[in-house]
Amino acid sequence: MLYTSTRNNKIRVSAAQAIAQGISEEGGLFVPVEFPQFNLEKISSMVPMSYIDRAKTVLREYLTDFSEDELSYCVEGAYSAEKFSSPKIAPTVNIYGNKNILELWHGPTCAFKDMALQLLPYLMTVSAKKTADGKTIVILVATSGDTGKAALEGFKNVDNTKILVFYPVDGVSPMQKLQMTTQEGNNVAVCAINGNFDDAQSAVKSIFTNDEIKAELAGKNMMFSSANSINWGRLVPQIVYYFSTYCDLVEQGRISLGDDINVVVPTGNFGNILAGYYAKKMGLPIKTLVCASNTNNVLTDFLTTGTYDKNRAFYATSSPSMDILISSNLERLLYHVSGNDDSLISDLMNKLVTDGKYTVSDKLIGDIKAEFGAGYTVESSVDETIKGHFESYHYLCDTHTAVAVKVYDEYVKDTGDDIPTVIDSTASPYKFSKSVLTAICGETPELNEFDMVDELNRISGVEVPASLANLKNKTVRFRDVCNKEDMSEMVFKLLEL
Ligand SMILES: *Cc1c(COP(=O)(O)O)cnc(C)c1O
Repeated sequence: MLYTSTRNNKIRVSAAQAIAQGISEEGGLFVPVEFPQFNLEKISSMVPMSYIDRAKTVLREYLTDFSEDELSYCVEGAYSAEKFSSPKIAPTVNIYGNKNILELWHGPTCAFKDMALQLLPYLMTVSAKKTADGKTIVILVATSGDTGKAALEGFKNVDNTKILVFYPVDGVSPMQKLQMTTQEGNNVAVCAINGNFDDAQSAVKSIFTNDEIKAELAGKNMMFSSANSINWGRLVPQIVYYFSTYCDLVEQGRISLGDDINVVVPTGNFGNILAGYYAKKMGLPIKTLVCASNTNNVLTDFLTTGTYDKNRAFYATSSPSMDILISSNLERLLYHVSGNDDSLISDLMNKLVTDGKYTVSDKLIGDIKAEFGAGYTVESSVDETIKGHFESYHYLCDTHTAVAVKVYDEYVKDTGDDIPTVIDSTASPYKFSKSVLTAICGETPELNEFDMVDELNRISGVEVPASLANLKNKTVRFRDVCNKEDMSEMVFKLLEL
């Protein structure tokens, strides 16, 4: 399997190189040159497997430059039983009828980012051995809240790596902030920036592609890489759980092998839903991928009109991990659906930088609409959905999951398409206790963060993840705040160069 770039499709690199490098030199994203095909027989063979074996079966097709021993080392290390609070790793839970929820937050930081970021450090260190000849890899992360913590936890104390995380100073939940600022490990640093996630992501991307900075780092035997979903190593682990949930539905007798399902994904950077698209292209029977947004509904507009326009108000919502106006991974979808048209993609991405918007052809958006649905949810509906699902089904959703649940309910109302469906649940409700508690009680409780966790636990009976409860006793290590213009300086300061 080889990888090419969305902005120059003459490029060919191995998986190890794509993962170690993170982003292609001209700013494009690495994509596989083909989709490995899984027929029903192969999917059937995965049904009795553990999550680890399902993961190996999918990843083997993409990481063809990894030996079987390397693959086992990576996958078994990442998804070991003591790191996940469910033996299924990512369990599929039935709510009623055809409505199922795929819980992706049983990892150490209680958000779905763990599904990829527990594996990425293993993939990265094996890849670096193959390609980066002894260089220290510096992972730069822009986070809307969950990637930062999951990446810190994955990379802490990993030899030959350093990790620097930038988060929007007012753009994360108190629990998310505490998770990051108390991070332990000898190779980690965290800094807030005055700006939003898009500012952080754009600054990180420009640092990555800055030749001067790269040269300075190379002089110290270091190189940058990325743990954001622009890195192929972040996306490929996410393909696995779409196969896994399908197998679970077969195992639970909710579908027969070969039946179509729909998938609904609460979306920000378009990474999670893109992994679902890859699974579909590989032959997994997914009919429609429904893209769910919050009030920052730039993707809903794009998927209905064909115009992507980030020139709009930015809202800080109760689902902060989806407060994003520049969805990086849409670039990969456009590349695939346009028939690998790298010059079109370069052109569109330049327009996004210069004008903040672009419009694709009717044909292109038509082809996308054939496979994707879209909808968004306003804040008051998020609260109603959390309350409604708790009262009717005793199921406690976090705010991000509630966005997807609500969009799904509307989708069924509008289309009548109620075939078996999996809704991705992307975070533990305890990461957003204040919002969840307010939704259930109808008013904001006057409690500190940890008392809110206890109160939510008292009301719901849902177990509090130990990693969140333990934060109470940790000391804050990182207090730096910088302006987005000063991020590159901050990188050097934090690296002590
Ligand atoms: C990151 C995140 C999302 C958005 O996922 P993308 O892959 O960026 O689309 C949704 N919910 C939660 C809780 C997240 O952390």
